[in-house]
Amino acid sequence: MTTANAPFVPPGSGWPEDPAAPDTPVAHTPLDVQRLAAGASTLHEVCARQSVCRACPRLVEWRERVAVERRRAFADEEYWGRPVPGWGDEEPGILIVGLAPAAHGGNRTGRIFTGDRSGDWLFASLHRVGLAARATSVHAGDGQRLLGARVAATVRCAPPDNKPTPAERAACLPWLEREVAETVPTVRVIVALGGYAWQGAWPAIKKAGYGVPRPRPPFGHGAEVTLTPPAGTAPDRVTLLGCYHPSQQNTFTGRVTEDMLDAVFTRARDLAGLTADEGAGPGPVPGGS
Ligand code: SF4
Repeated sequence: MTTANAPFVPPGSGWPEDPAAPDTPVAHTPLDVQRLAAGASTLHEVCARQSVCRACPRLVEWRERVAVERRRAFADEEYWGRPVPGWGDEEPGILIVGLAPAAHGGNRTGRIFTGDRSGDWLFASLHRVGLAARATSVHAGDGQRLLGARVAATVRCAPPDNKPTPAERAACLPWLEREVAETVPTVRVIVALGGYAWQGAWPAIKKAGYGVPRPRPPFGHGAEVTLTPPAGTAPDRVTLLGCYHPSQQNTFTGRVTEDMLDAVFTRARDLAGLTADEGAGPGPVPGGS
């Protein structure tokens, strides 16, 4: 078993796509998260700081324990063992928001939705509609790229049973708030993957200055909400789209299918003014124009 980096990959030690450096400042409390998220000078620095955060003791303990104990299938792999930062286009037209990384997915590979079944479904769909260069996302540094899109999570550390506590969600929110704010100039569509992400992204969207309807409309697959962008920014409207999460439970039971995912991401692509030709262009594009 490889254990050189356990319980986590040291920042700036050569892991592909690691945004952090050895001197990236580390948040140890929720107040630190607020301060360091607000004080980062670029989106890249926001992500670097996300990736070394230690503000939630229960999640730090869990993510590092998983990285040491490992699943048998990955026993010979190094695990990332750190928060999983936002990833993708730095000037995206589409921002995709999920709940949290998976213990043996993003927590292992260091890239969001990478190395787990949900990610297999997500990236395959993004590729079919031209928003990802490859159909698979296996590990950081595998050549995968998002094309006009970016993926982030409402909680950056893998939680036990996929259930972060309300306090952990609140602690992590400033990271998402800042990431949403940094992408305001280019984003035309925000896609929430699942009801938790819909709920979790809402305060970050408001904090970034978007005008939102009240009360918050209910989540649903294909639900659309028009957001008013902050004053002085380029787009005249931004759309929040709901999409069922491609969790194993949802895909096994047929609650979400490939066609359903493709329909939402085709809609997102069209609303964002992107074309399949700008992306991987594997075509045909289901339901596309
Ligand atoms: S969940 Fe968020 S705030 Fe908590 S330790 Fe992880 S990155 Fe930091």
